[in-house]
Amino acid sequence: MIQLYQPLSFMGLVYREIKQSAIDLEMMFDILNKNPEIEDRPGAAPLALTDTALRFENVFFHYDPRREILRGVSFEVPAGKTVALVGASGAGKSTISRLIFRFYEPSSGRITIGGQDIAGVTQASLRAAIGIVPQDTVLFNDSIAYNIFYGRDGASEDEMKAAARLAQIDHFIESAPGGYEAQVGERGLKLSGGEKQRVAIARAILKGPPILILDEATSALDSLTEREIQTALDRVARGRTTLVIAHRLSTIVNADEILVLDKGRIIERGSHAALLAQGGAYAAMWSRQNEIMQAEETLRRAALEE
Ligand code: ATP
Repeated sequence: MIQLYQPLSFMGLVYREIKQSAIDLEMMFDILNKNPEIEDRPGAAPLALTDTALRFENVFFHYDPRREILRGVSFEVPAGKTVALVGASGAGKSTISRLIFRFYEPSSGRITIGGQDIAGVTQASLRAAIGIVPQDTVLFNDSIAYNIFYGRDGASEDEMKAAARLAQIDHFIESAPGGYEAQVGERGLKLSGGEKQRVAIARAILKGPPILILDEATSALDSLTEREIQTALDRVARGRTTLVIAHRLSTIVNADEILVLDKGRIIERGSHAALLAQGGAYAAMWSRQNEIMQAEETLRRAALEE
């Protein structure tokens, strides 16, 4: 009875934890230790990290066979470079990041890292090589320190604090009652979306992965927070193979390449300047976002003058 009871209560705990904080995917699969649908192949080898270039080769994918989500997606993020993915809501951007983590497998085509098909490497080595800063970070109901240490078990206190500093969240933490030991969550410290994202950035910095996926928050942040987050993201991306899923085009003007995804297909690709000159979908998105930003600015000014 005891034997049966213990695992059940452990699962209960995990379930509660997931439910309470709707933990992001990376954590959830870490805790449960596997995605039930994806297994390591027999003889799977660890991912070798001599080359970290990430490639999609004619990838098709559907969740439901009646509806294709990705239709022949091909692109490369050269080692150490930053590629940005933009496109309307539902275009398939987050699906691409889930495939890189191998939460799902392409229905056809290949995803490779340094030429190795990720379907043939161990999931543990794949996930160890990739850091993700998710769109909506949900933290463990534990101390802030614990939430950052989650990036790399066994890191030193100094390393953890250095990561917080680089992520520009150190001042906030130090001014909170209890500092790094302050509890996060319902009955503890409540963090704003921007603060939570900076904790996620600190975690990614501590993990120090060669490959990084940044899923930009959709929610509007004030311009100071946005600048701070941008600086922190630029720091964490430097020298890493980085895929940015972007919602605000202003954050990706310096990306090495921008991919425009529409209904599961890449319809345009190039640098910011080249895409603007092309006058297509990206250029239209850019002018629309600028109009919205200008309208918001006018409203803000009017509110200040009242
Ligand atoms: P957003 O910018 O709003 O985050 P996105 O471009 O990231 O959108 P995805 O989350 O990749 O879009 O979703 C692509 C499509 O796949 C959507 O139409 C969505 O409804 C569908 N989809 C996403 N996850 C699942 C799932 N688990 N099962 C079935 N369909 C799904």
